[in-house]
Amino acid sequence: MADEETRNPSSATGTAALRAGWSHRHRDVSGGWLRPTVFGAVDGLVTNTSLIAGLGGGRASPHIVILTGVAALVAGAFSMGTGEYISVTNQNELVHAEVALEQKMLTLFPMAEQEELAGYFREYGADAETAARMAAAVSKDPGTALRVHTREELGVDPSELPSPVLAGFASLLAFSFGALVRWSPGGWWWAGSPGGRYCTRACASSCWVGWPSR
Ligand SMILES: [Zn+2]
Repeated sequence: MADEETRNPSSATGTAALRAGWSHRHRDVSGGWLRPTVFGAVDGLVTNTSLIAGLGGGRASPHIVILTGVAALVAGAFSMGTGEYISVTNQNELVHAEVALEQKMLTLFPMAEQEELAGYFREYGADAETAARMAAAVSKDPGTALRVHTREELGVDPSELPSPVLAGFASLLAFSFGALVRWSPGGWWWAGSPGGRYCTRACASSCWVGWPSR
């Protein structure tokens, strides 16, 4: 028993769990790059598939096709990149405004905020006394208190907001990649194959663009 009392429970549990395959590593899911990357790539593919369908319907000359492809790539990439940059900037500004409001409430009503925090801990399963002690401990450091309050109330960590520049470039590059795949000779070959024609028709009809029967 005495042996058990002196043992460090977290490291003992950790070592045993590590041997059993426990992992504490996670991929970066907070950087804000994945959503704009997938969105940009899909948009690049779908937009340009629709354009190819439209040009095919109009039996455009190769010169027009190349010009349209370059214009679509540049316009789409900058539009997506700028839109993503502005939307993430706006989102972050809103978060900062709400964090400032929380900071103000913490300064003006510290005891009410501490009781609010104790309520969150009770919701997580702590008894009233433990929750009150945890809330008091967290509230001792203003930075920690603000971080925990914003995590609980806004669902975000103000120190880990997505980067507008990263999101913008991710979207720009992903759209360009999607467009290049679609306008590349391989993309045209794929468009001419049975599977490609089916996908193009499905995409075109979903975008209200006609595709001539061949
Ligand atoms: Zn609060």
